[in-house]
Amino acid sequence: MLRCPNCNSHDLGKVGTNQLYCWQCFIEMTTENDKIASVYQVEEDGSLTSLNDLFLEESSHVQYFD
Ligand SMILES: [Zn+2]
Repeated sequence: MLRCPNCNSHDLGKVGTNQLYCWQCFIEMTTENDKIASVYQVEEDGSLTSLNDLFLEESSHVQYFD
């Protein structure tokens, strides 16, 4: 079962296809093959800020810049 990479909570809600939301620390993550592919912080205005550089630095399949 996936845990939040920020707070290790299992309190994750599904908000879309391959999208999860952590109700503990209010971050959103996308999943791919049961692994976390991207992590975002939801800002007050609803925009998303990528946290990939904080949580996924060991991941090789995330491309930050093209
Ligand atoms: Zn969390």
